[in-house]
Amino acid sequence: MIWWPVGLAGLGALAFSARYHWWRSRQPGSPVLMYHQIVQELDGTPLPKLRVPPRAFANQLDAMARRGYEVTSLKDALEAGEGAKTAVLTFDDAFQDFAANAWPLVQARGMGATVFVVTSQIGGSNVWDQGKGIPSVPLLDAGQIKELAAQGVEFGGHGHQHRDLTSLSPDELARDLAACQETLSELLGKPARSFAYPYGLFNDQVKLAVAGAGFSAACSTRPGMLAGSTDPLAIPRIIVKRSDQALDFSLKLTRTKSRW
Ligand SMILES: [Zn+2]
Repeated sequence: MIWWPVGLAGLGALAFSARYHWWRSRQPGSPVLMYHQIVQELDGTPLPKLRVPPRAFANQLDAMARRGYEVTSLKDALEAGEGAKTAVLTFDDAFQDFAANAWPLVQARGMGATVFVVTSQIGGSNVWDQGKGIPSVPLLDAGQIKELAAQGVEFGGHGHQHRDLTSLSPDELARDLAACQETLSELLGKPARSFAYPYGLFNDQVKLAVAGAGFSAACSTRPGMLAGSTDPLAIPRIIVKRSDQALDFSLKLTRTKSRW
């Protein structure tokens, strides 16, 4: 009865392949990872995927170091260019836990990161999430942003009010982006270069307005790699989720996706 174990192994391999995208071809370029919060607690959030536990995050940093990635901010990766084996850490919304939980792990490994700030809510909270059952979470204040910037964190814009920029009139759009750049420039003493579209939403008009406000690199939430041919105002990112296991993470680094 030799077919039994073979049959079972075959079925197992089939199930594994259906679940994990190891068969997907490797994609050239740098993975730009998107995180929101690095926290253990869920606090009843309806979006647990956006809260990665510190332990898992530390393991992800170590996995990248083992694989020879230089883990940097977006600015440093763009400056390093295509030949470098870089991976980029980005954090949307600038939650307080970046200072408490994420940065110490990043800094201890000599790595870099980019944090995208909602400039009307510096020292405030995620008011744009309210009414959706998402808990209120405090955001980095001006003193923390200055201190982290002095330690090498790159800060970029995430809109002044975290509005869907594709829904704004040309006037509102220009005003929101100008306020965002002005607030950051004043705080950091130099213009911010990087931007992340709130909700990942953008169109050609939004891209032009973001460039017009002085940002030269902007991140979307479309999956893909950062390569030489990438539109710098539509940089794809890879979402790292709470449920990602080590295998998911390693597949995402090279293939942008791990499972359906
Ligand atoms: Zn956001």
